[in-house]
Amino acid sequence: MAQKIFITGGAGFIGSHLAERLLGSGHQVFILDDLSTGAMSNIEHLIGREGFEYRIGSALDQGLVAEYVDRADLTVHLAAAVGVRLIVERPVHTIETNLGATTAVLEAAQRKGKRVFIASTSEVYGKSTAFPFREDGDLSLGATTRSRWAYACSKAMDEWLGFAFARERDVPVTVLRFFNTVGPRQTGRYGMVLPNFVRQALQNQPISVYGDGQQSRCFGHVRDAVESVERLIDAPNVNGEVFNVGADEEVSIEELAKRVRAAVGSSSDIVNIPYSEAYAEGFEDMPRRVPDCSKLEAATGFRPRTPLATIIEDVIADQKVKLANNED
Ligand code: UDP
Repeated sequence: MAQKIFITGGAGFIGSHLAERLLGSGHQVFILDDLSTGAMSNIEHLIGREGFEYRIGSALDQGLVAEYVDRADLTVHLAAAVGVRLIVERPVHTIETNLGATTAVLEAAQRKGKRVFIASTSEVYGKSTAFPFREDGDLSLGATTRSRWAYACSKAMDEWLGFAFARERDVPVTVLRFFNTVGPRQTGRYGMVLPNFVRQALQNQPISVYGDGQQSRCFGHVRDAVESVERLIDAPNVNGEVFNVGADEEVSIEELAKRVRAAVGSSSDIVNIPYSEAYAEGFEDMPRRVPDCSKLEAATGFRPRTPLATIIEDVIADQKVKLANNED
């Protein structure tokens, strides 16, 4: 059934892919974005398409948010401060934006009992070692004196807030914990590893591996992430639930650098950069992060499986275009 879907942060990397997919399925899509980390170039190809509407504005603007939440059948709340570098550099902005925007969305949704999907992050698992991470597992965050954890904590608070509105005020809320999501349109400007490595390799510049490179991640294609979200929107019994959204092919960052270099055919050196130089003194990385995808698969019949080799190829193609156009 065609629905009206409101996406906050819809000009961002994940948001723009989601908007495109939902339009393709016949839904009406309204997006709101302040273009802080999103970009018009992400949505230019959607402007003028039937059923698509965009508004430049802040998800902290309660009036604006309420207007769109009211008009829509459901909201996918993606607007947030993202990117480890941005978060380490601007912790106040991170906390205020993440909690403020989620509050605005939930309060608006409460008035008419509208459905809300809240984007969260695998960062909330923090230093947990209960691999693979299950949605009902404990969270393990670092000290409050280390600003990296402000992001995880603000997103965990967004989750608590969502479930508080669900229990106390009957708002149908679903939480999506995105794992490392990569693919075309992701900019390297905020420090994300894959676009950075690909750009460095294409320019035959040193590939910057932070720390010893033995930390590992599972990279999911953004196409699979937005398919997961669409399927969860259509699935029964997802209210009040948390879902990991990610793939589970694990790779060390050193190995990722090697695979990117080989795929590009680059002559870049691979260099190790201490975390203190890359981020800040005392920065704590997560040594490992692996999702358990079984809950997503049970609810939707779908499991993200795009192989890393394909993901790398897609990012190379995208970065080549960006380089040719002098874009970040
Ligand atoms: N990283 C790296 N070089 C870079 C950017 C990131 O080695 O140029 C590392 C980073 O320290 C982390 C991993 O790659 O261990 C993934 O970083 P990203 O910021 O993409 O996502 P995170 O998993 O930290 O949310």
